Amino acid sequence: MNNQNSSFEVVASGTGDPYLLTPGPLTTSETVKQAMLHDYGSRDNDFIDLNQRVLDRLVEMVDGASSHVAVPLQGSGTFVVEAMIGCFVPRDGKLLICVNGAYGHRIASMCQYYQRSYLIQESNEETPIDINELDRRLSEDESITHVAVVYCETTSGILNPIKEISEVVKKHHRGFLIDAMSAFGALPLSSKDVHFDAVVASSNKCLEGAPGMGFCIAREEAIEVTQGNAMSLSLDLYDQWTAMKKNRQWRFTPPTHVLLAFNQALNEFDDEGGVEGRGQRYQSNCDILVKGMRDMGFETLLPDKLQAPIIITFHMPRDSRFEFSAFYDRLREMGYVIYPGKLTIADSFRVGCIGRLDETQMRGVLATIRLYLDRLGLEGRVS
Ligand SMILES: *Cc1c(COP(=O)(O)O)cnc(C)c1O
Repeated sequence: MNNQNSSFEVVASGTGDPYLLTPGPLTTSETVKQAMLHDYGSRDNDFIDLNQRVLDRLVEMVDGASSHVAVPLQGSGTFVVEAMIGCFVPRDGKLLICVNGAYGHRIASMCQYYQRSYLIQESNEETPIDINELDRRLSEDESITHVAVVYCETTSGILNPIKEISEVVKKHHRGFLIDAMSAFGALPLSSKDVHFDAVVASSNKCLEGAPGMGFCIAREEAIEVTQGNAMSLSLDLYDQWTAMKKNRQWRFTPPTHVLLAFNQALNEFDDEGGVEGRGQRYQSNCDILVKGMRDMGFETLLPDKLQAPIIITFHMPRDSRFEFSAFYDRLREMGYVIYPGKLTIADSFRVGCIGRLDETQMRGVLATIRLYLDRLGLEGRVS
């Protein structure tokens, strides 16, 4: 664990695992992992109370106590994105999807499965969604009923201006759906500032729980009118919501261990100072990483003002001695898992700064990268 040491020293988290500098699953605290060492029955009152507490806290996080509801769903993040699209866009609705990366395109493929009409407003992966174009499209096409956007497009790490987008959508009286998967808990999102029908995120990512469940926070008036829209029983958020209102239970086997971990993760989130505290740690991780990588000659895809403090995309160095799979394997051996790129516009790789990571891991991975470059004969610098 001693990164000051100039030798190659393998590091590991408290449970002996490599650190995950990825977009998820992520490194969790030991106490979050420990919270899972119980078997709860789904009808156990302790579990039912814990479930209710978790949902109440999620609603509070968006300042929605009197106006919004939280509905949980089993599965990875994609399941709840799909559930939101299938539930909130009616069968005769039409969705305008603001796309600047793979997760936006994924919403379009959901519409294809569900046979929902949709349009795409696309910007490239290094360009935020264009508000004026959105305004124009909504003025011209009255048949658009809903707009969907990804808050932080994890493909590149770009931040989309959801507050400004929500204002345009509200002006045109359309529904607004947000995939906040990689932003929720670290970047501001208040229902007082951003007018949305539904927002989805998951237990893992910035809330630092275990993966395995997602949730939708919806304006009660918006979810109330979604009965009969869903074309999937297990992904029917309206049914999940109304069933849980009746008996406080999940319709199908709840991921009990994930909820135990999530409850503990939310305690640790509060202890850190909520969105503000967590956002600051991630911002500091991001700043250290970006500065250290630039010092070694790496270039970021995005200018700092568009970069969310979540995951950073770096251009692949041009030097032929640098080979990504060997670089990846070496970092993995030393205790740091990074992530390949997902861009269509440039050859790249990504390094995440979310999860239970701080300055120590950021400086550690930088030192390991520098030693790796030395070994390649690059003297700690690529061009
Ligand atoms: C991670 C992520 C998802 C969901 O991914 P899963 O792999 O299904 O958990 C959806 N949207 C965004 C923006 C994400 O970052």
